[in-house]
Amino acid sequence: MLRRFLPLCIGLVAALGTPAGRLSAVAAPRLRRDKSAFAPALSVRSGTTQGRSVPPNWTERMKPYRVMANIYYVGTVDLSSFLVTSPQGHVLIDTGVEENADAVLDNIRALGFDVKDIRVILTTQAHYDHVGAHARLKKESGARVLVSAFDAPLVSAGGEGDYLFGPEYHFLLNKTEATEKDGEVVKIGPIALTSHLTPGHTKGTTTWTMTVKDSAGQERKVVFLGSTTVNPGTKLVKNEKYPAIEADYKHAFEVEKALPCEVFLAAHASAFGGPEKSAAAAAGKGDAVFVDPQGCRAAIDRSEKAFLAELEKQRAAGSK
Ligand SMILES: [Zn+2]
Repeated sequence: MLRRFLPLCIGLVAALGTPAGRLSAVAAPRLRRDKSAFAPALSVRSGTTQGRSVPPNWTERMKPYRVMANIYYVGTVDLSSFLVTSPQGHVLIDTGVEENADAVLDNIRALGFDVKDIRVILTTQAHYDHVGAHARLKKESGARVLVSAFDAPLVSAGGEGDYLFGPEYHFLLNKTEATEKDGEVVKIGPIALTSHLTPGHTKGTTTWTMTVKDSAGQERKVVFLGSTTVNPGTKLVKNEKYPAIEADYKHAFEVEKALPCEVFLAAHASAFGGPEKSAAAAAGKGDAVFVDPQGCRAAIDRSEKAFLAELEKQRAAGSK
């Protein structure tokens, strides 16, 4: 099972505008890393799966689709990328593995949008399967890469410094030009995305929320869930690299459970039923299929249950 050793990122995220002065901090730009510095066994090749084997549906292309209002799915079958559009510019949330850059670019163009109109690229979590194509998308669009303050160092360093993953999960360096803070509202034209820090999966995992009107004219609360998955090998007890990990995960669950959530989206399409929902929408049910508050709560509850079970297991093992 690939999932046993691949970072799973059920969360996700969103976007941003840039009222001058709203965005704080600037992560130091770094030069693109010479990939040969990575573990030699990787045989990293640019524009490929970064030398790692990944599930086929992470790179398998699919037709982009409209989720609701100005939110579009432009990712591959399972690795989500969301384009939030406006006449004043667009926001792109997550980009997938490095190899997915062309698929995302093609999907955006297929929908009739100009890649150059992307103003900001956001991140739900600084893992290679969600920020791997940031560098290419930034280059093609000229957009700024905005990351939460706690994930910015990781993104700027191409994954180096991750509390769990080593060099085999590094990705292309990204110059993060600004970071966003908990509760910050990122605006681009009419787009307003609010960040909610939901750390644990990474130290800066972020959940994003926005409100849109569905095709019937009703306002809907949209949540791009930050991942709360506990990756295999994660130490929840006595983690010297991340002492606050248990408290952070618990905080993340409280934050996510408190959010009004009618339309939920996530970094892996399988986590929000993307393939099924988009098929049903195309078959005539329209965007109503994405209104799924029960599914949202169930996804959070499932994740919390898994976290608590793992925590219990590690505590029991530690007290023996
Ligand atoms: Zn992840």
